[in-house]
Amino acid sequence: MNASFKPATAPAGCSSREVLRERGQHEVFCGLTGIIWLHRKIQDAFFLVVGSRTCSHLIQSAAGVMIFAEPRFATAIIEDRDLAGLADLDDELDRIVGQLLARRPDIRMIFLVGSCPSEVIKLDLSRAAVRLSQQHAGQVRVLNYSGSGIETTFTQGEDACLSALVNALPAADGKATRSLMIVGALSDVVEDQFRRIFAALGITDVAFLPPRRSTELPSVGIETVFLLAQPFLTQTARLLEGRGARQLMAPFPLGAWGTSEWFRAAAKAFNVPTAKFDQAIAAAAARARAALDPHRFRLSGKTVFLFPDSQLEIPLARFLCSELGMVPIEVGTPYLNRRQVGLDLDQLPETAQISEGQDVERQLERCRRAKPDIVVCGLGLANPLEAEGFTTKWSIELLFTPIQGFDQAGDLAELFSRPLVRRTMLRV
Ligand code: SF4
Repeated sequence: MNASFKPATAPAGCSSREVLRERGQHEVFCGLTGIIWLHRKIQDAFFLVVGSRTCSHLIQSAAGVMIFAEPRFATAIIEDRDLAGLADLDDELDRIVGQLLARRPDIRMIFLVGSCPSEVIKLDLSRAAVRLSQQHAGQVRVLNYSGSGIETTFTQGEDACLSALVNALPAADGKATRSLMIVGALSDVVEDQFRRIFAALGITDVAFLPPRRSTELPSVGIETVFLLAQPFLTQTARLLEGRGARQLMAPFPLGAWGTSEWFRAAAKAFNVPTAKFDQAIAAAAARARAALDPHRFRLSGKTVFLFPDSQLEIPLARFLCSELGMVPIEVGTPYLNRRQVGLDLDQLPETAQISEGQDVERQLERCRRAKPDIVVCGLGLANPLEAEGFTTKWSIELLFTPIQGFDQAGDLAELFSRPLVRRTMLRV
């Protein structure tokens, strides 16, 4: 490992550091947003939101600039007469799903996605999913989850979706050899790179959740060990453990160091000799370090303030700090799950204020006082902050862009160096 990728500071020790907890007004984006990247990942699945015109507009506007083919998501809109109890919603849903399958026979899995309106009227989508699965047995499987979001973060939609999938995974009964499951939606290019490295490590029984095709759900049991690829999959991890699987704890695979440590956790679980591990990752890790060099030159010493939004904030701040030399002033996260992000949290300097939850006005005041070089935040705060002269980075971009793994390290760094360079040029 290149010395420059070792943690920049002495570990703070996650159990000891003070966390600012705020429970005020917060800026959130609901879990329906996850459909945008999940529908791309599971290529034979359809996401049917049961919601309002607002839900429909949210997905259309989030997806609008990114969809070039016929989308595999839609909204079954609950009309006023439905809300007034004038229509049988179960019949309506059955009709819509029937129409959908007649038009799209390639669909193998349908997610009924609950929303605020469907929850307000207590529409039982789990019962509907069972009924529809029976009606269309052999053709399509129907699952459900909630994407509603007054009190959630937008990445919780993926956690809810994968939780529904965990409940549908077949049991690995009688399987005597250890298998590895990678949990969290990754772009196909990242998944392929990871598969190649696992093969070089000699770990061949590797499955990804979600799979590219819904018909390829991996089995799970006591011989399954799993690594999270995303830090916000708390419920999914808990459910996998409930099915007998064991989680491998690691920093998240961002940058050269984070990715090395993530693979190291898998290598240890499969007793891969150190020399074989070093050899398997050497070339890719060296490429990642080389790709980071020019960005470190631009970003080292620059200050960053992260508002709570995606739940990626702690691993991201770790990457920006320990691999690019940036100085995190405040690292806000909607929820601080120490078990999942503890190894990244340990690498953050004591000087970084960790905050959980939000009181948006107070946090904005802290940000204004700190005058950071770049702010990572949700869409709702980015424009006003830009108007005040701050350079911002939308945290949602981190979900739409392949950022995990060695070969994406440079791209991830560029997401931060590009806006800073652009602003410098604008000032000239
Ligand atoms: Fe629909 Fe609720 Fe999300 Fe608004 S917050 S788009 S009503 S699910």
